[in-house]
Amino acid sequence: MAEQRPEQGDTRGYRDGAQNVVERRGGHAVLEGARAGGALVTAARRTVTDGLVVGTSGNVSVRVGDTVLVTPSGVPYERLTPDDVTGVDLAGRQVLGTLRPTSELPMHLAVYRTTDAGAVVHTHAVHATAVSTLVTELPRVHYMAGALGGSVRVAPYAAYGTEELAENMLRALVGRSGCLLQNHGTLTHGTTLDQAYDRTAQLEWMCRLWLTASSVPGLNPTLLTEEQVAEAGERLRGYGQPE
Ligand SMILES: [Zn+2]
Repeated sequence: MAEQRPEQGDTRGYRDGAQNVVERRGGHAVLEGARAGGALVTAARRTVTDGLVVGTSGNVSVRVGDTVLVTPSGVPYERLTPDDVTGVDLAGRQVLGTLRPTSELPMHLAVYRTTDAGAVVHTHAVHATAVSTLVTELPRVHYMAGALGGSVRVAPYAAYGTEELAENMLRALVGRSGCLLQNHGTLTHGTTLDQAYDRTAQLEWMCRLWLTASSVPGLNPTLLTEEQVAEAGERLRGYGQPE
């Protein structure tokens, strides 16, 4: 695929929409970027309508070539348009848009620098955040943990937006595609925006499941072994695909 990275500060493409971008720039990467910007806004809005995010308390990014398109800081998602999407390079230098990128940029960039992820979703989903205050690892209440690579770890607390938080998160993500952030929220990544989003929804659901099961007085939920979760993960990776 031809790589055509937008010049520093050139935001016209996004301002004029996908059609004009193609005519003016002629690059597949730019067209893909414009589409990705629209998909990013759709995914960001979905985090609100699905109850995973309240107000501006989450962020979504997608990688297009060497550019990371990311939601801006402080714009409520119901008002977000593709024009508001910002773009940075892998070093964090802004290459698209006029708004400031999310303050959680260090976490997003850390994922792209160290994995082959195509998208990252970060939320403050309520059940997942509640669990992050109670344990250092989500108890294995369901085999769907296998879809995230195994038992979901909780990254130790560090102030939002810091490199320290990004480092804690990376350690919690080793061998996993999602983790919890202590007293903060969730982070998942995936090949596509849909996959990253679905993983966040699954993680929030598993946290809700554990809270529900563990709230029955006098009873404790049965937990799966690491081996059982790993086996489910193997099967899930082959799920729905031709042999
Ligand atoms: Zn956050």
